[in-house]
Amino acid sequence: MKQTHPTAAPISPLPTAELMTELQSYGVRLADPDAGAQSRRGGAGPSDHKAMTLDGMTIMVPVHTAPAAQSPFEIAQVPSGATRILRDGLPLAEVSFPRRPRFYDLVSTDGVPYWKIATLHGRDVLATTVLQECVRYQSRAKTCQFCAIGQSLAAGRTIARKTPQQLAEVAKAAVALDGVTHMVMTTGTPPGKDRGCAVLAESAAAVKAAVDLPIQVQCEPPDDDAWFARMKEAGADSLGMHLEAVTPEVRARIMPGKAQVPIERYLSAFEAAVPVFGKGQVSTYILAGLGDTREAILAMCEALLARGVYPFVVPFVPISGTPLEHHPAPQPAFMKSVLQPLADMVRAAGLRATDIKAGCGKCGACSALSTYERGIG
Ligand code: SF4
Repeated sequence: MKQTHPTAAPISPLPTAELMTELQSYGVRLADPDAGAQSRRGGAGPSDHKAMTLDGMTIMVPVHTAPAAQSPFEIAQVPSGATRILRDGLPLAEVSFPRRPRFYDLVSTDGVPYWKIATLHGRDVLATTVLQECVRYQSRAKTCQFCAIGQSLAAGRTIARKTPQQLAEVAKAAVALDGVTHMVMTTGTPPGKDRGCAVLAESAAAVKAAVDLPIQVQCEPPDDDAWFARMKEAGADSLGMHLEAVTPEVRARIMPGKAQVPIERYLSAFEAAVPVFGKGQVSTYILAGLGDTREAILAMCEALLARGVYPFVVPFVPISGTPLEHHPAPQPAFMKSVLQPLADMVRAAGLRATDIKAGCGKCGACSALSTYERGIG
């Protein structure tokens, strides 16, 4: 009897939030590491990931992490030429990769390749780290243990400071050539009390002067809440202030420097920022899997939602080269136990990822949260 090649067998039902959750927890092995657009290694935000599109949704899936090497998921090309995700050798879904953005081939007027200034995240998000250096990255004692902001700089894959002019040039090209629909501007935290708000404001203003592109700025709470209105007036449409972890013990262990800013200050900053940017336009990023319990994460999310803040909970990814590279990724069952009730809470609070003007919550590629919100899974 002729045996059917396992990768040619019928595909199982469409991907669901649960499949996304499993992929993001376990990662995936790549038969061809060069498939699709270049993956990111190091840097702020999603790293050691690759963007993949399943069932019309583009998600970031770990590919270079230690757990990914042991993952039950593999991506392989089938004899027909299609690319499929296999689980334990059995096909689950077709997958495609966003193509390499055209703007990556351009160089700024001052001679810097555009891909060193900003990168494509997910399918249509332009992302940049305006200041690639961080006051919290100076010593291992203060470093956020999950962060790789210095790695891409040390490897020459980015530049230390992106000027407003450079960002404006890249944003204009990325809209024209690759159809990006929003932009994320994060920053390493500089020594000043504004925590980077001034540089984000001037960067947003320059981009807005060049192209009509919704922008999310991301920073720590500044010393003075007046910065929120200044950033908004400069052109920022939404704001992210990222808690990362929620309980004092986990914060002190995982991010000893940033933990010096108490949770209470984050909450007061959120209360000041929401009236400026609008309900649901201020968000935070919480990394599940670092030790916070499900109950602690959901309790914090409830407090955030009550303040009109969108709590974007993502699975922690152990990035190679960081102190947490051997820390386990969260189990899919844990992620589901957080994201499924959280999606109900978000809906009950009247917030929606799709209503966010710009930023991580809108992109949603690093978490299955928005898929649970839409009830797919
Ligand atoms: S969710 Fe945020 S960090 Fe993740 S890919 Fe989208 S824009 Fe980038």
